[in-house]
Amino acid sequence: MNENNAPLMLQVIGDVCCLMLYHADSKYNTFNMFQTVGELLCIFLNGEHVEKLAPESDAKFAASHGAIIKNEEAFREWLGDYDRERYLRIVHDIYLSDDKYVEALKPSQRLQIYLNFYQDALVTSLTEQAISQMEVTLSRTPELSAKYELESFMLLMKTGSVTLQEDFSHACQFLQEHGIALANGTSYMFATPDELIIWLLRHVMEKDKYIKKCEFCGRYFVPKRNTKKYCSDACASKQREEDSFLESLSFGHCTNVSLQT
Ligand SMILES: [Zn+2]
Repeated sequence: MNENNAPLMLQVIGDVCCLMLYHADSKYNTFNMFQTVGELLCIFLNGEHVEKLAPESDAKFAASHGAIIKNEEAFREWLGDYDRERYLRIVHDIYLSDDKYVEALKPSQRLQIYLNFYQDALVTSLTEQAISQMEVTLSRTPELSAKYELESFMLLMKTGSVTLQEDFSHACQFLQEHGIALANGTSYMFATPDELIIWLLRHVMEKDKYIKKCEFCGRYFVPKRNTKKYCSDACASKQREEDSFLESLSFGHCTNVSLQT
């Protein structure tokens, strides 16, 4: 693949997604897995792309293992070069407007109506590629992966050369013998963070997921259930602590309240 043309590669398998970065200035490949597409989207909405996707510790680790890192700062700058304000505006228009007519509709319906007025708001160019889940699936079980490699090697040693058809047949046999079923996945490539974010936004909306703003810390998040108000258990319990503190003040028990946490 051409790392300069499409340095962002996203693999989506069901809800889970995996983002790979292949930037020319960052000569190591980073590989990040997320439980949902919404989780990755919110990293960009919250401006946490550096700490979550390209932390300095990763670069140090890669360098200590012999990776040549040309210009890590330029890479981070590139990764952060997206129009965050614009996406937040779209999120607010579609999800957080408090307009009862907007809220009455499902996100996918809101998106379709929105696009009627702002056609260019969520347009992106992308390259979709057929990918095989075989390598990903085998790599989750190192023993199986090693066994497969060894068998392939033995096959090559036995015959001197292996045709694609023989490789294919051997792989089918191996997966059947070990009862491995592969997931169907899709892979996309993007040239810029903007293209990636637009795709993520559309995906979340088209799947009727909700984007919310945590009522405690203000971070954006995509909850499993739409009734959730807080981005994490930590925020929910901090809010409860704060509520009970305020309540105790209003009942005039302030002398009993310990400020220690
Ligand atoms: Zn929060």
